[in-house]
Amino acid sequence: MPAPNMDVVVSLAKRRGFVFPSSEIYGGMGGFWDYGPLGVELKNNLKAAWWRSMVQLRDDIVGLDAAIVMNPRVWEVSGHVAGFSDPMVDCRNCKLRFRAEDLKGPPSEIACPNCGQRGTLTEPRKFNLMFKTHVGPVEDTASVAYLRPETAQGIFVNFDNVATVTRRKLPFGIAQVGKSFRNEITPGNFIFRDREFEQMEMEFFVHPLDEDKWFAYWVAERLRWWTDAVGVASDRLRLRPHDADELSHYSKQTTDIEYAFPMGWSELEGVADRTDYDLTAHSRGSGKSLTYFDEAAGDHVTPYVIEPAMGVDRGVLTMLFDAYEEQQLEREKRVVLHLKPLLAPVKVAVLPLLRNRPELVEIARRLAGDLRAALHAMYDDTASIGKLYRRQDEIGTPFCVTVDVDSLTDGAATIRERDSMTQERVALAQISGRIQDLVAGSAWTGTARPDEAAGDA
Ligand code: ATP
Repeated sequence: MPAPNMDVVVSLAKRRGFVFPSSEIYGGMGGFWDYGPLGVELKNNLKAAWWRSMVQLRDDIVGLDAAIVMNPRVWEVSGHVAGFSDPMVDCRNCKLRFRAEDLKGPPSEIACPNCGQRGTLTEPRKFNLMFKTHVGPVEDTASVAYLRPETAQGIFVNFDNVATVTRRKLPFGIAQVGKSFRNEITPGNFIFRDREFEQMEMEFFVHPLDEDKWFAYWVAERLRWWTDAVGVASDRLRLRPHDADELSHYSKQTTDIEYAFPMGWSELEGVADRTDYDLTAHSRGSGKSLTYFDEAAGDHVTPYVIEPAMGVDRGVLTMLFDAYEEQQLEREKRVVLHLKPLLAPVKVAVLPLLRNRPELVEIARRLAGDLRAALHAMYDDTASIGKLYRRQDEIGTPFCVTVDVDSLTDGAATIRERDSMTQERVALAQISGRIQDLVAGSAWTGTARPDEAAGDA
């Protein structure tokens, strides 16, 4: 199925309450976004899926939640104050600033992408991406602090704390989900490049001799997660190893997992081999030895680090693109988000076929209440049944339960599945259990109704 363009996804996200521009009533703020009622559910579900696969289902990774603002020494020692910068080019004519890597040629030869003037672009200059703030009442150089540009440093500075309390032996990992901030010069492509965003990073500490083995393992494992756990189409994902000249200051080898976004293949997640760069730097900087006693060698070694790091917002954008489909039914068009049930914002919607029949409304409301005790369910009777189905399809709700006149006599209701639009008739007392099983992955056994192709009117 063809991928939608950016405008279609931005418009769906706004219209249905996934993502709004931040402080929109004041004109918004470039690079900042707010997640609406459905967006926050989708994002939370993605984070929960990552946490489950990285922390809860493994016995070699534990979690952490470190502060966003840390002692500024962390960022000096980590190399971010000196090295976390993008080469930028200014146009002397229109005064706009561009990332050098986004320009299609050397500044001396090409025209400004904004005003079209030639010979007006400066040579690239380094621009630090960290947001600065002040801690305490006095705004002087001694009070400068930074909003973290990556969550990873919170993990490195806690390496000793976590290793001690958990009594871990190598290899083991520490995972963290949290906000990061980068003063990106060219935020854009909706929630792809933001100034405030969320990351899910895991630092996996290994014996230096095992570096390559674990790097290959995490590249393969993370790619598998995107297809198997999130359901992203494998032909829209690819691996791209970094060239030597694009590696971050801390990395020896990096492979990006890229998605075929409408603006071209772009990074969704990066797996980096950070070697012993960070732990060695913090050992030196803090005077505290961040090493591990290797019993086989009878000596202290500094672990190497393999880091899978992804952006939650890019993950949400990927899910919206990848799940989106427009289908032409016999009588109408339907938009459907083929999200995995576990990731869908709403798992089930209960709909009375006739909203002017109090007996049906009562059964439907009771059912919705039962379902809500177990998962995210909603009740809706504000339109005709065909319209209600369309609304749920468009937000990716995998199951609808329809209470009809027959429910009054047969004590059952119809479960309708989003992708096939087929139906199962299930006793009211069993609906909640059946929906929970289906969301957890039980096989669907629905049958088609004769008028399905017409759009379950
Ligand atoms: P890019 O090359 O796109 O700037 P990066 O290589 O600097 O990204 P990393 O430092 O490897 O990114 O960060 C890990 C992940 O965090 C990225 O794969 C991406 O998903 C996410 N990320 C990084 N910067 C941003 C941003 N400005 N907005 C949203 N997500 C981001």
